[in-house]
Amino acid sequence: MTLSDPTAEQWAAAVAAVRALGADDEIQLICHVNPDGDALGSMLGFGLGLRRLGFGRVRATFPGEFRVPDPYRSLPGSDLLVPEAEAWKNADLVMIFDVASESRLGGLAGLLADAPASVVLDHHASNTGFGGVRLVDPRAAATSVVAEQLLSRLGVELDSEIAECLYVALATDTGSFKFDLTTVAVHELAARLIATGLQPGEISRRIFDSRPFGAMKLAGEVMGRAVLEPGAAGGRGMVWTVATLDDLERYAQPPYVLDTLIDPIRSVAEADVSVVVKQVAAGEWSVSLRSKGAVDVSGVAVAQGGGGHRLAAGFTGYGEADAVVDTVRRLLDEYLN
Ligand code: 5GP
Ligand code: MN
Repeated sequence: MTLSDPTAEQWAAAVAAVRALGADDEIQLICHVNPDGDALGSMLGFGLGLRRLGFGRVRATFPGEFRVPDPYRSLPGSDLLVPEAEAWKNADLVMIFDVASESRLGGLAGLLADAPASVVLDHHASNTGFGGVRLVDPRAAATSVVAEQLLSRLGVELDSEIAECLYVALATDTGSFKFDLTTVAVHELAARLIATGLQPGEISRRIFDSRPFGAMKLAGEVMGRAVLEPGAAGGRGMVWTVATLDDLERYAQPPYVLDTLIDPIRSVAEADVSVVVKQVAAGEWSVSLRSKGAVDVSGVAVAQGGGGHRLAAGFTGYGEADAVVDTVRRLLDEYLN
């Protein structure tokens, strides 16, 4: 990995890439498949900023099914969102948000490859180094931190709509301001965002503390089948569970409701490593990994073609769920020995 914080040259190149555009030029924003709060929040907040600068042709998209998780449907700037089929095909500038590797762009990777200019905004330590101008800061708590810095360098003033997007991104990726990268600078940014008139309590209720009854019952069932293996991960302990498409169907829930299940699972005191294996299709699983500090789980994820951060990472696993868990168990042992 040869990543560092963006250099002065990289910031200048990103500013120049935007300033080179005319008001009628097309700007395509893209975030990762199965978008989360940071992906959508950083992308839409930046998109609103481009609008404030007078750019009239800005579209935002992500690969795969065009389904925005319910908590993020009311984000300001959602009118910028289009299904991937409606992305500008010959955009003058492509901007990528919160994407650690090109595989997370699915069918939109070609758009980036063909773009006359591109800027990548990200904060994953595992970022693979794709794209034109690269603003990748592994020390940033969220991609929205990078997005806010670029907006500021472009002379965009924060307003309550931009701020809400960036705040939701920051609050989700820091686990409501409790993860390790929650620095003084993060709280200072949050303060500036809130100062535009945000209501953090109302936003938190909407984003974190609101879900359908069926999703709550489903979570109970999936948590109820969790397995604790105190001897795994070199004796640091691993806790894991599996959620299937059948589970989703029984409770009539969309896939994204499984994405927060890692939070109660990772709270288990007897395990350093936590794993949630979520079925995507027959023989295909989206795997969430977390560590409390003893293990760099991004190493495990990268070894399986995924990525992420030291303490939070993921990958796509194939075959039976048990075999996916076996693979994680083995890679953890290899890592720790
Ligand atoms: P989550 O478990 O919340 O889906 O993801 C945790 C972290 O790992 C996030 O930073 C996310 O971007 C990253 N991540 C999750 N799944 C994948 C994957 O399949 N590929 C890559 N490159 N990163 C992933
Ligand atoms: Mn992120």
